[in-house]
Amino acid sequence: MRLPLIRQRLRALGAAPCHERRVLRAWVQGRSLDNARQRAEDFLPLRLRTGLPSLFDELNALVQAHSEHPGADGSVRVLAALADGQTVEAVLLPRDGVCVSTQVGCAVGCVFCMTGRAGLLRQLSGAEIVAQVVLARSRRAVKKVVFMGMGEPAHNLDNVMDAIELLGTEGGIGHKNLVFSTVGDRRVFERLPQSTVRPALALSLHTTDPALRRRLLPRAPDIAPAELVELGEAYARRTGYPIQYQWTLLEGINDTAAELDGIARLLAGKYAVMNLIPYNRVERDGTPAEGFRRPSWERAAAMARALHVRGVLTKLRRSAGQDVEAGCGQLRARALQLHQTSRGVT
Ligand code: SAH
Ligand code: SF4
Repeated sequence: MRLPLIRQRLRALGAAPCHERRVLRAWVQGRSLDNARQRAEDFLPLRLRTGLPSLFDELNALVQAHSEHPGADGSVRVLAALADGQTVEAVLLPRDGVCVSTQVGCAVGCVFCMTGRAGLLRQLSGAEIVAQVVLARSRRAVKKVVFMGMGEPAHNLDNVMDAIELLGTEGGIGHKNLVFSTVGDRRVFERLPQSTVRPALALSLHTTDPALRRRLLPRAPDIAPAELVELGEAYARRTGYPIQYQWTLLEGINDTAAELDGIARLLAGKYAVMNLIPYNRVERDGTPAEGFRRPSWERAAAMARALHVRGVLTKLRRSAGQDVEAGCGQLRARALQLHQTSRGVT
């Protein structure tokens, strides 16, 4: 369901703007339905009150936990079932965060990512994106939402921006704690600065070499890394929060001395944080799919230190939930495989 449609439905039930805000706040803040109903009896017009339970039932049915996979680091990977039977992943992160999906599948097709394997299956609606946060809030407190699950937010911009707007207002999430993660797209740099809720930006850079980037991210918009950094820097200065660069570390490919030089040249002195994320193996039928390897932790740590010395604020990350099902989209892929195997289709 598109978020503007929910607003329309509320208005059709006689909601004034203040009622609309109150109802949306109850939903997004994950207050239990009973409380919302109680509050409704206290404050809302009769027609709205009687219409609300069925609307809330619909909203609750948008995203449901299909299975949950806790990790030793305090994260929980949730395979979330949508009303049409599709599934996406949401990850409850340590320290009050949640990572949400924006699409079923993805059209960019990064060679190291499981999500891109089957292309784009469908967009998530704004309500389905917000409903993942509501689901997370039924489990624990949420103060940060990162759009780093399945999908490319820039390819579903209207719905993602509707979700960001709601989460940053009635959802009570601080704007810089909403993190829009993208391979970089001109529409993002045009749209985000104009939004009333301006999220923080994570740019998945992965290499400073334009030709290599075209190979690793085959259907990302063809913007040279140097220009991406310029566009990112302008947004960082404008919002007052740093750009978070993402760098999936692939041994022998983008952990080289040439890349170190390239990163130092592009990012030294910039309002930015570089996140190095050792590649999580993407497996198909038990075998690594693309022959990529992650560098050793020591090598990755040495790269982080070298960048630090050259003036680039760098963090080495283990992606959350790593010991559960490593990498973006792999939980869903595993569930699909099991499902197909159990139906005799391998
Ligand atoms: N499409 C957006 C957001 C979702 S992907 C984007 O690409 O930014 C979120 C992050 O997961 C990206 O930085 C991506 O590079 C990373 N990622 C995907 N597959 C990975 C893997 N196998 N190992 C490590 N990081 C991976
Ligand atoms: Fe899509 Fe991001 Fe995966 Fe690339 S890394 S295929 S953009 S989800």
